[in-house]
Amino acid sequence: MQGDAFEAAVKAVEEGFVVCLSSHVNPDGDGIGSLLGLTLILRALGKEVHSALPQPEKFPPQYLFLPGRDCLFHPEELPDKADLFVALDCSNPDRLDGLWSRAEGADVLLNVDHHEDNSLFGDVNLVDPGASSTSELVYRLSRKGNWDLTPEAATCLYTGLVTDTGRFQHRNTGPGALAVASELAAAGADLAAISREVYESQSLSYTRLMGRALERAEVLPDLGLVYSYVTQRDLRETGASLPETEDLIDHLRTVRGTKVAALFKELEDGRIRVSLRSRDGAEVGPVARALGGGGHAGAAGYTSDLDLEGSLARLVEALREAGHG
Ligand code: 5GP
Ligand code: MN
Repeated sequence: MQGDAFEAAVKAVEEGFVVCLSSHVNPDGDGIGSLLGLTLILRALGKEVHSALPQPEKFPPQYLFLPGRDCLFHPEELPDKADLFVALDCSNPDRLDGLWSRAEGADVLLNVDHHEDNSLFGDVNLVDPGASSTSELVYRLSRKGNWDLTPEAATCLYTGLVTDTGRFQHRNTGPGALAVASELAAAGADLAAISREVYESQSLSYTRLMGRALERAEVLPDLGLVYSYVTQRDLRETGASLPETEDLIDHLRTVRGTKVAALFKELEDGRIRVSLRSRDGAEVGPVARALGGGGHAGAAGYTSDLDLEGSLARLVEALREAGHG
């Protein structure tokens, strides 16, 4: 990352008055945490802030407690023309889905992200694959700009940090992430509420769905692959929703002797969302990219047009091509 990327980003924010903010499709803890955290910071700076997610209907219930959620607009309500558009945790324009035209139409587009495959689509790119999370980058940006950080904003950013690092266990956890966590705690992040709401408030429906998916887990030992799946029928029968299932794959990933975990989730339109996680130094980013998606070495994903069986076969083939097994 360019040494002056933070300075350029501070300048872009300070010069804009009408600011739009967004994050990616299938929103996760870091996408939402960085979006709401920066929303609150910019509101406190006196900006006219319009924030929206491209798929508000997919907002995971475990993040409903976050402060600033009432500041979210419907994507259709964002102004066509902003001084500044900030894309958070998006590795490429597709991740903004229908909001890309507004991002493109803004005077300045600021891209804040930590994906190694970021396509540097902004006018200003604050992109650091060494950062644990986009929330960490938003925190560092706020320090660089000397902007006030309320306990509410700190709560949002800590949520992004704790979820993207898998509660400080994944390999993106290092001195930097831990230092930022400490500073966010000092700024008043509500750690007790975050662990309760994000990790200890799951619905009975999702608990049962998790049981089904874990019971079905299979291992392909030659590939070091552990996988399972969730169908629309499972969702109907248990009453769970897909956005609730964000951490299901973390349970699959704990199986000893495996290197890659895959969870296949059937979407309403029949396509399959595939989440990949790696362990013990394996990399899943290249496999996800080869199959039309993207992500990090340790956590990546893509969408498959094949059925469940076909998607599994295609993944096995891609893992072999990428040198797994
Ligand atoms: P998840 O499995 O939680 O949906 O995604 C894991 C990681 O992979 C996230 O960092 C997410 O940004 C990235 N990712 C998931 N699906 C896609 C995709 O279709 N395209 C790209 N570029 N990244 C993805
Ligand atoms: Mn992230």
